[in-house]
Parts: sequence; structure tokens; C-alpha cells
Amino acid sequence: MRRAALVAPKQCTLIRRRSSGICGLSSYRALSSAASPRPDYDLVVIGGGSGGMAAAKEAANHGARVALFDYVKPSPQGTTWGLGGTCVNVGCIPKKLMHYAGLIGASFYDGRHLGWQLPEVHGRGHSGIVHEWGHLVETVQNKVRQLSFSYKAALRSNKVKYVNALARFESPRVIEYGNASSGERQKLTTDKVIIAVGGRPTIPEDIPGAVEHGITSDDIFSLKRPPGRTLVVGGSYIALETAGFLNELNFDVSVAVRSIVLRGFDRQCSEKVAQLMAELGVRFIYSVTPISITRKLPDEGGLPCLEVKLRTPESGNVVTEVYNTVVFATGRTPETAHLGLDAVGVSYDPQTSKIDVNDVEQTSAGNIYAVGDCIPQLELTPVAVKAGELLARRLYGGSTEKMDYEMVPTTVFTPFEYGCVGLSEEQAEERYGKDAIETLLLEFENLELSAVHRPKVATARSDEFDVNLSATNLSKLVCLRNDNNRVVGFHYVGLNAGEVTQGFALALRLGATKSDFDKMIGIHPTDAESYCGLTVTRRSGESFVAAGGCG
Ligand code: FAD
Ligand code: NDP
Repeated sequence: MRRAALVAPKQCTLIRRRSSGICGLSSYRALSSAASPRPDYDLVVIGGGSGGMAAAKEAANHGARVALFDYVKPSPQGTTWGLGGTCVNVGCIPKKLMHYAGLIGASFYDGRHLGWQLPEVHGRGHSGIVHEWGHLVETVQNKVRQLSFSYKAALRSNKVKYVNALARFESPRVIEYGNASSGERQKLTTDKVIIAVGGRPTIPEDIPGAVEHGITSDDIFSLKRPPGRTLVVGGSYIALETAGFLNELNFDVSVAVRSIVLRGFDRQCSEKVAQLMAELGVRFIYSVTPISITRKLPDEGGLPCLEVKLRTPESGNVVTEVYNTVVFATGRTPETAHLGLDAVGVSYDPQTSKIDVNDVEQTSAGNIYAVGDCIPQLELTPVAVKAGELLARRLYGGSTEKMDYEMVPTTVFTPFEYGCVGLSEEQAEERYGKDAIETLLLEFENLELSAVHRPKVATARSDEFDVNLSATNLSKLVCLRNDNNRVVGFHYVGLNAGEVTQGFALALRLGATKSDFDKMIGIHPTDAESYCGLTVTRRSGESFVAAGGCG
């Protein structure tokens, strides 16, 4: 049901059950058996990704009878995969492995200058060192298949019934699904439903040739041929991560950004990430969007030859460039269109297709809940997992703990990663006012890379090979002055940002202040120790670029 027509109800039924102490499983069963005929299942979960798997296993652990539906529609390029959802098959896991492969490529230069007898490395081309795309894909896909298999085993051992079929609502308690082999429609009944259908990449259909010739993150990790010269369209997480690892794997990569990179993130850090990527060889083309993609014959060395017209909306200028691969990283759309939500009174936003939920992930249909990428919250695996687990615990384990969507840490896995938790400088200023904020900054060079003088690759193309990369690191704390300088934003650009940021996320959740950070003893020599004694404030106007040295 479209949002305007219905507002999610208050949590009255659930709260009444909890307060009368009948939210635990035995009393939950007593309640349901008092009503009309016992349904086939206590809970049906639609979607076997991060959120759905977590919710299904947790509910079953609390004794609920659970069925989980998971079905993957092939991408327009025909790519499909097994159980586990986006993260395992076409998201976090294959992405992180390709990122790692890219980091290895980037480290050849360092290795040579640290005594390894490697062929000389000139910018993008590592003469004598060859990367085999097919071998990388094989290793990545083996890991993906292994994980997907272990998910199936986990459902079995948790006694969750797994149904590999596309599910939809016939009514709030009746789920209809197709039998994959016979094609027949089948039905089952359930007391409650959790929708965890995630999303799929959005390809702008108004661009002629985009759906036909473009690929997305659904395809790149299993692409049978090397990508070759690649255009990535988009400027956010997926675009930058994909461009980052392809560049480090020595492909020629351009990124078409229609506005800004990493919208919603701290501007200074986002621009730092893009600057470092540009210095490593990624070509950023700003303020453009593709307007057509045409495949030209003959192919180029076995790779498609795609003629892309790029338009600058402001000037109307159109340029034509030729690529072997065009990756659309232009956002994702929740898989809610074919669930039959209107028929069961589930309210959703018709613009974004995201399902409306209240603070306990309950939809406007009382027995139907939703978690993960299909609700208007952060699209991150740990968020989907935690929300799914907590929901199942509330429904079947007597818990009252709600999901807290604040202070969620995240990392963009670009060559120099960007990790953060809490507010960006801009968000803090907007929320509390500029005067209420103290921002502390330090830009510095990572020790190991400064020793080898890792060069800018972009400038290598213009005969400036010996120019070093800009400072590789940016450490930043955003503090609230009238609250004892409580740290409300933590930002880190540098190597291993995911590892660095995770621990600091706990500190921010516990309310750490700038003085707590100052009292912390560093681990030397690391990049993370920079947070022990940040002294330069934005307000001072002093330079925050470190002069170098040790301690
Ligand atoms: P999903 O994992 O998408 O699972 C939904 C499942 O439901 C899918 O298998 C789908 O096919 C199935 N389904 C849909 N409709 C139906 C139906 N009607 N019947 C049956 N089955 C159905 N997050 C991070 O935290 N860290 C990262 O590093 C990271 N990297 C990412 C990289 C990429 C390239 C992408 C695309 C995403 C990345 N994410 C990352 C985001 C993360 O993958 C998602 O937030 C997470 O997978 C969402 O989980 P979910 O349970 O909501 O949905
Ligand atoms: P986002 O929605 O974050 O960003 C979409 C990007 O595409 C924006 O830069 C947007 O530009 C641009 N865009 C949208 N439409 C068009 C168009 N028609 N033409 C040109 N550009 C367009 O999507 P992503 O796909 O990057 O990521 C989806 C989510 O997945 C993320 O929000 C994140 O939560 C999750 N994710 C997490 C990762 C991690 O944890 N490391 C990694 C990857 C994904 P504009 O800003 O102008 O609108």
C-alpha cells in the first residue's frame, strides 16, 4: 500500500503482549493456538541475505517454526548466484577479495624498494608482472560458493526450512510461491512474516544501450573476460570501490561523476579519497552523465568496443569515448515491487520502493515486519544482521531491545580506505551550529609508504614520475564543545581504515571525549596512534599537515 494511504500503526499489540509477559515463545504459542487454525509456520522470512538469514536462525533458536524463501533473479546480463544474498555473493565478500588483490598489485612498487627482486615498476604497467583476471575470479567465486554452501548448512542445522523460490503475499498470512521445477504455484500459511528482500542495482533505463551493454556489481565479480578499459558511472561507495580495485589491477579506469563523490560523507575526507585515487591513476570526469552506449564492431582484442556519449548537462557538451566495459554503480532499488504489498496493506515509499517501518521494524500490516536494505536505513550488512537478530529476539525470545541505527561505523574500501563513525563535519555543524563544533585534524604520510616514496601514477603519465603521492592519511575528530568536547564524529583516511575504525566506534558509542582520546596511549608506530594527541583545530587556521618525524 502506498505510503500516503496508510501510516504504520503504533506498536500497541506488541507492547501489550510484552507488558503482560507473554512475548516469550511458550506464551507466544499459547496465544497463537488460542486463535484460528495453526498456520504451517510461525514465521516466514522472505529473502535469504544478511538480514533474513540472521532473523530466521535467531527465531528458530528461540523455538519458532521458520521457513525462509530465497530466490535470485538473473541480472540483465544473466548473472545469478546462490543463497546468502548480496553481501556474500555480489557485495562485501567478493569486493573485499578484489580490493585485497588490488592492494597486492599496488605493493609491488614498495616491495622493489624494500629489497625484493621484482621487475621495475613504472606507474600503471608493472613490466614483467602479469595479472590474470580469470584466476582472480576463480578464487573469488570459489570462496563465494563455499560461503553460500555454509549458509545452506546453517539453515539446516538451525532447522529452518529453506525454499528456493520467489515468494509473494496472497494475504497477510498466506505466502504464494512458484515451484522451480514444475512451475506450479504453491501456498503456505504463517503467523508472521519478515520481509528482507534487499535490493538490486539500478541501471538508468533512459540511457539507450545501458541495460543491454552495461554491467553492474551483480556481474563484475564473476565477469568471465577481463574488464579492459572501464568506465564506472556513479560517485558513491560502489563506484569508487570498483574503480579503486580495477585501477590497482592495472586496468585503465575512468569514473563519470554527475555531482560529487561520496554524498553524505564528510566532504574533506571524501575529496581526499578521490584525490588519492586520482594520483594512483583513476581518471575522474566530473559533472557528466552518459547519454548512450553503442557497441561497435569489430571487438577490440576479444573485448567489446563500447562507444559512450557523455554529456555535461550544464554546457550541453557531448564527448564520445570508447570503453570495453561500462559499470553502472548508480544506486540500488529494493526488491519490493512484486511482493504484493498493496494487497496486504504494507505501506511503502513509491519513489524509493522502501518499506515504511516503525521503531520495532513493524510495517503498517501488524504481522508483517521488514529489515535490511528494503527499509529506509543504512544499507550495510551488519545493520541488516543486527536488526534481524534483534527483531527475532523481540518476537520469540521475550526481548525488548530495539535496533539503534545511530553511531554505525562504515568503511569505503578504496585503495586508501575511508572509515568513519558518527557525524561528518558538515552534519555536526548543521545539527549543532558551527560555533558548537571543534574539529581536530592531522594530515600525514604513512611511515611505510613514505620510506619507499610511492609515486603518483597519474603524473607518471605526464613525465613527472618522481612526484610522491600526497599525504596518504587524514585523521579527524569532530567534537561538541559544550558537551565536554564529546567526540561525535570520527574520520580516518588511510590504509586499513576498516580495522582502525571498528574499535573507535566503540569509544564513540560509550561517549568518549577529546580528553579520553588524549589520555589514550598509542601503539607505535601505527597510523591509528595519530588520534592520541590531535592538537590542530580547524578554528585555529594553523596548518594540519604533519612535518614528519617520529612521535
Ligand atoms: P540482501 O543481502 O540483498 O538479500 C536479499 C535476498 O532476498 C536476495 O538473495 C534476493 O535475491 C532475495 N529475494 C528478493 N526478493 C525475493 C522474493 N520475493 N522471494 C525470495 N527471495 C527474494 N555492506 C557492508 O556492510 N560492507 C561492505 O563492504 C559492503 N560492500 C558492498 C559491496 C557491494 C558491491 C554491494 C552491492 C553491497 C555492499 N554492501 C556492503 C551492502 C550489503 O551487501 C547489504 O547492505 C546487505 O547485503 C543487505 O542485506 P539484506 O538482507 O537487506 O538483503
Ligand atoms: P548510492 O545510492 O550510495 O550512490 C549512487 C551514486 O550513483 C551516487 O553517486 C549518485 O549520484 C549516482 N547516480 C545515481 N543515478 C545516476 C544516474 N542516473 N547517472 C549518473 N549517476 C547517478 O549507491 P551505491 O550503489 O554506491 O551503494 C548502495 C549502498 O550499498 C550504499 O549506500 C552502501 O550502504 C552499500 N555499500 C556499502 C559498502 C561498504 O560498506 N563498503 C560498499 C558498497 C555499497 P548523486 O550523488 O549525484 O545522486
